[in-house]
Amino acid sequence: MRRYNDSRPTRHDFYHSTVWRKARGRYKRLHPLCEECERRGRVVPADVVHHKVEIALGGDPLSFDNLESLCHSCHNKIHREGALKTPRGGG
Ligand SMILES: [Zn+2]
Ligand SMILES: [Zn+2]
Repeated sequence: MRRYNDSRPTRHDFYHSTVWRKARGRYKRLHPLCEECERRGRVVPADVVHHKVEIALGGDPLSFDNLESLCHSCHNKIHREGALKTPRGGG
């Protein structure tokens, strides 16, 4: 785990932080539908904004490249199966 600035919030605090709420709101406006369902040709409104690479694993918490709009069903599935995607090319 890389060391960050001391002012950086912990993972738990991050999800309640203003920066995250803003980033999540912005991302959801750009991607109002579940991206996983969209790939399967279904139109389902997104419930959550998911981190493709978890923050705890070094994923960028605010980069849109690391975010994905998902419905509850797809989000639960990803976490249950542990099918978290790994970034290609060190993104
Ligand atoms: Zn879905
Ligand atoms: Zn998630």
